[in-house]
Amino acid sequence: MFESLSSKIDKALKTLKGQGKITEINVASTVKEIRKALIDADVNYKVAKSVTDSIREKALGREVLIAVSPGQLLVKIVSEELTELMGGTKEDINTKGDPAVILIAGLQGSGKTTFSAKLASFLKKQNKNVLLAACDIYRPAAIDQLKVLGEQVGVEVYSEPENKNAVQIAKNAIEHAKKNNKKIVIVDTAGRLAIDEQMMKEIEEVKASVKPSETLFVVDSMTGQDAVNTAKTFNERLNFDGVVLTKLDGDTRGGAALSIRAVVDKPIKFISTGEKMEALDLFYPDRMAQRILGMGDVISLVERAQQVFDEEEAKKLNQKIRKNQFSFDDFLAQIQQIKKMGSIKDLVGMIPGMNKMMKDIDIDDNAFKPIEAIIRAMTLEERENPDIINGSRRKRIADGSGTTIQQVNNLIKQFSDMRKLMKNMNKMGKKGMPNMNAF
Ligand code: GDP
Repeated sequence: MFESLSSKIDKALKTLKGQGKITEINVASTVKEIRKALIDADVNYKVAKSVTDSIREKALGREVLIAVSPGQLLVKIVSEELTELMGGTKEDINTKGDPAVILIAGLQGSGKTTFSAKLASFLKKQNKNVLLAACDIYRPAAIDQLKVLGEQVGVEVYSEPENKNAVQIAKNAIEHAKKNNKKIVIVDTAGRLAIDEQMMKEIEEVKASVKPSETLFVVDSMTGQDAVNTAKTFNERLNFDGVVLTKLDGDTRGGAALSIRAVVDKPIKFISTGEKMEALDLFYPDRMAQRILGMGDVISLVERAQQVFDEEEAKKLNQKIRKNQFSFDDFLAQIQQIKKMGSIKDLVGMIPGMNKMMKDIDIDDNAFKPIEAIIRAMTLEERENPDIINGSRRKRIADGSGTTIQQVNNLIKQFSDMRKLMKNMNKMGKKGMPNMNAF
């Protein structure tokens, strides 16, 4: 995410790093480069200009303290300005109402249906009783898609495949929710490839009749400036409450994230970074700014982990590690959990400094596949007690998993090193045992 913008801003700031103090001249050239980086990232020209003017003013107006270099000071100012540009603080969605209705709008393909299911899952984890309503009446496949996703996240989907009246379906869904004690109804609506009058009218009508507590506009961040223009049009007609930026995992230049707030004056509330149901994050402007500046986003990483990792399971695992009983099955379970957290490249990008280091390296999300195949080809006894895996067993496992003996040997070696490490940590004394709950 934002690799190119990050590295350009980093380069611009580097020119200041060796300088003793901030002067009109050195700030001017750095600021010019930052402006160029923002425009290259598809940030609206006016927005880029006003941000960089403000950066320059602040940089020149501030005393450079002895403790910080001009470069560090400027990084801080840029981070503050980007945060401000993206809205300053996190804004929550409104889920008040009985039931609360959340209306999802956007163009076709922007990720509405996927997001609706993700949001349902997100709210369900907060113990909210949620109903999904399928109101995309033009794309029959959309109803099925929502049903599949609903099932995946364990949330009921209300649909009327024969009914072609979106307003009526939405109303019936709300009635159904009332009768079945559902507290939130997420209404997934139809989209078109481009904005058209009929679609706008229909969604205006749906909005007027269901009176949502929250209307969210979903937009594909890969579409750059178009995303901002679409947001403007939808906002004029719908006066939505918040924006959901999708596909931030792709090769996006980031401009949409940076300009939407300034152009439509509505907060970004969620970002979606993948097709998996877990790839959804609340939008924190400060964290995003830090990410753009390559400072990583450890807090979001930890929150993702907390959502995916089960406290009880972690405790059990900790016990097993303490008793030197960590098995290949436990290892497999850990891999499954890490995979649930989202794309590996995306996760790595949240670690400070890694975004820059990894930007040219293609991290393959299938990297775990051979490991999983090898473990699955082992018998239960072998998984519990790897010491019994002799030469002939290794060959059988390699054949069974479609890998080579070399790969099997490597995995067993790594696993046994890991167990040794755990054993040593246990030996180091119970007092010094590090907390191994999280990973
Ligand atoms: P809708 O027409 O607006 O309902 O869009 P869909 O939810 O059907 O999404 C369109 C496509 O984009 C699907 O293939 C989704 O799997 C994919 N998609 C949705 N959100 C994301 C995301 O955050 N990242 C990526 N890479 N793909 C996404």
